[in-house]
Amino acid sequence: MLDVEAVDAYYGESHILRDLSLHVDSGEICAVLGRNGAGKTTTLRAIAGTDEPEVRSGHVRFHGDDVTHLPTEDVAVRGISLVPEERRIFPDLTVAENMHIAEVVRNRSNVVGRDIEFDRGQMADEDIYDVFPRLRERLSQKGGTLSGGEQQMLAIARALKQNPDLLMLDEPYEGLAPQIIQAVEAAVERIREDGTTVLLVEQNAVAAMNIADRCYVVDQGQVVFEGTADELRADEETRDRYLGV
Ligand code: ATP
Repeated sequence: MLDVEAVDAYYGESHILRDLSLHVDSGEICAVLGRNGAGKTTTLRAIAGTDEPEVRSGHVRFHGDDVTHLPTEDVAVRGISLVPEERRIFPDLTVAENMHIAEVVRNRSNVVGRDIEFDRGQMADEDIYDVFPRLRERLSQKGGTLSGGEQQMLAIARALKQNPDLLMLDEPYEGLAPQIIQAVEAAVERIREDGTTVLLVEQNAVAAMNIADRCYVVDQGQVVFEGTADELRADEETRDRYLGV
């Protein structure tokens, strides 16, 4: 589904991703792991086509199409949604309004409609609230008053509205208590069961390995390990050297 081929990416003159290749297969949960500053967020941003980093060589292919230098809205319309680390929900709007805003944004990009053939429709709110029943109970609560875990659920729920083929999550467990991590894990597994492929980036390698089918470990912008979660669990040297677990 997704192929990142030998990508070199830069912030200004800082060379961050070095000859980085990875692939995500349809229907899997794939994790990119690594220490602080390893290049995990930069990898997701390079795929999503955000303004930075600049991809100077290599390719990102999605469903076989080269999307390397497409603007981020065009990448989204093709079916890739990114939930950024900072979650970006609207604190003064209710849960329902936050979901509605996702809809407005979506409709607007349909109107702009550079690639109308990629109009994806939307996932129904009710189907999304089946994944996140906690949100259904809090529809009229302001986003800013939700717990950290509920805010993460809302951020993922908004991304799901775009009906993505590939959902990319940047550190979904950051700052969450273990019990809430389990609730988010269960939601991500359900999302995959419902047919959405997941690429997640995490510093919490132990939690990510619980749900990932395959893992990459990144260090200094390079892939230093690729394998199944079981293979990574068994590879003490890699875990110790690059993940500290
Ligand atoms: P973290 O968990 O801290 O987010 P990460 O693995 O996601 O770690 P990145 O955010 O991808 O790491 O950062 C990789 C490198 O790129 C780091 O050295 C970081 O300082 C640098 N970097 C990130 N964003 C920028 C930017 N906008 N301008 C310049 N350098 C940046």
